[in-house]
Amino acid sequence: MARDYYEVLGVDRNASQDEIKKAFRKKARQYHPDVNRDNPKEAEEKFKEANEAYEVLSDDTKKAQYDQYGHDAFTQGGGASAGGFQGGFGGQAGGFGDIFDMFFGGGGRQQQGPQKGNDLREDIDISFEDAAFGKSMDITVHRHEECDHCHGTGGEPGSKVDTCPNCRGTGQESVVQNTPFGQMRTQRTCSKCHGSGKIIEKKCSKCRGEGQVIAKRKIAIKVPPGVDNGSRLRVANEGEPGILGGPKGDLYVYIYVRPHKEFERNGNDVVSRVNISFAQAALGATVQVNTLDGKVDLKIPEGTQTGTAFRIKGKGIPYLRNPNQRGDQHIIVTVQTPKKLTEKQRELLLRFANESDEDVNVLQVSKGLFDKLKDAFK
Ligand SMILES: [Zn+2]
Ligand SMILES: [Zn+2]
Repeated sequence: MARDYYEVLGVDRNASQDEIKKAFRKKARQYHPDVNRDNPKEAEEKFKEANEAYEVLSDDTKKAQYDQYGHDAFTQGGGASAGGFQGGFGGQAGGFGDIFDMFFGGGGRQQQGPQKGNDLREDIDISFEDAAFGKSMDITVHRHEECDHCHGTGGEPGSKVDTCPNCRGTGQESVVQNTPFGQMRTQRTCSKCHGSGKIIEKKCSKCRGEGQVIAKRKIAIKVPPGVDNGSRLRVANEGEPGILGGPKGDLYVYIYVRPHKEFERNGNDVVSRVNISFAQAALGATVQVNTLDGKVDLKIPEGTQTGTAFRIKGKGIPYLRNPNQRGDQHIIVTVQTPKKLTEKQRELLLRFANESDEDVNVLQVSKGLFDKLKDAFK
């Protein structure tokens, strides 16, 4: 189902919600099982395709995501943070499958003809910076692919292939089922040939009749700017192969973001810390701080207390849905108490304490310095 959703519903990219709804209803009528008794499988696929398209385009948020990312859309896995990507549209229509099974008979998708291949999952971890600014990369996946020895037939080349006697090659057998609408004659996959319509005399020597082998593939993916820990990237049609000519499954890439030694993430904001001396805190200063874009100057006003947070606008993480917009960086200041004072510093601090009438410990003062400051300690 890699077709463009607008194309599926036959609507313009600027179509209103009303037009989208109308288009979907039209398709639903067109592909309803009652009017497609001759070709139920194709109708079902078309119906599902239309439903998948409608599920996305009828939701303004999903539609916006789709417009931006197309079929390589994003969904948020666990651990969504505030401002993270919500929802997503990777999976099946909720609850719709059951209605289909009722319409089309059979006890679930397994017994239908062509089926979409299974989805694959691959986990990757990326740096804080790559999550912020995005990255193109290759990942390696192991997946089933058509056996090149038998070209997917499962039979040894040249060996005899007979038509299945049970279904006479159709791959389907007919059963009568009780449904909420009364008794229905429905089709299901042939239990003897499992839908292939053929009985193979000698199994393929390479794949042992499976028709598939496990292949190692490099797949290029594009991690967009602004992904968060737990984001899920959907790469359409890179999953397991379909069954009986069905479409390929999808590849889901789960993204884990490695912690940064200096930055923490809070939504789309970056939080970091900087130490300043108590003289800088008292008198004010300009200090250099690291941001995702390199060092910038931060003005510390005089009289700054420890724990004060300063904000640098626009130095945070880009928004996934709008990468031109970024969060802010918050820098939390810690005022450090000086240690290992020189004699001169000690003298200045004692004078400072005396100036503000503060009671300080003078026991560590050397004899020489004490004599020098005698007046101050009378
Ligand atoms: Zn083979
Ligand atoms: Zn058969």
